[in-house]
Amino acid sequence: MNSIAYLALGSNMGDRELNLLRAVAEIGKIRDVRITALSGFYDTEPVGPVTQDPFINAVLRCEISLGPHQLLDELQRIETGVFRRSRDIPQGPRTMDLDILFFDDLVISDDRLTIPHPRLHQRRFVLVPLCEIAPDLVHPLIRDSVKTILDSLPAGERVVRV
Ligand code: ADP
Ligand code: MG
Repeated sequence: MNSIAYLALGSNMGDRELNLLRAVAEIGKIRDVRITALSGFYDTEPVGPVTQDPFINAVLRCEISLGPHQLLDELQRIETGVFRRSRDIPQGPRTMDLDILFFDDLVISDDRLTIPHPRLHQRRFVLVPLCEIAPDLVHPLIRDSVKTILDSLPAGERVVRV
């Protein structure tokens, strides 16, 4: 295991908590991935242009010996294969959304992958759970810790531990 990745999990369709538990189990089953931390689950107000039901969000930390694109392949296999997620409404309701937040200190921007995740520093529903497991983690582009970034955000959408 030679890299460390942080992943965000979110669900706002079906049994949201069960979906998250199942996603954690599926991620744990990926060969060459070992989960080393899991945040609590948070009930969160949706952000963005689409009116939709609240999400449950969490983040996890894992040790991994896959590359970032291979990890994305595995996460998309879980989204579509396990959760039968369809991609009809962009930013709309979904049974499972699995995003890569950080992958070591890598900075990637290609047609499939942007790392660090381009909106993580604006999203309380990511930063609050991330702060629980990695408050001192430094964003490689912003060069501030996750906790500093969260503290500098204005009060925003609801993020409540369940
Ligand atoms: P979103 O998570 O933005 O609501 P999707 O889950 O439908 O949207 O993902 C859309 C595309 O985002 C995926 O096909 C994937 O290639 C791309 N993508 C870019 N960067 C990342 C990342 N860091 N983690 C996950 N997907 C990413
Ligand atoms: Mg996604």
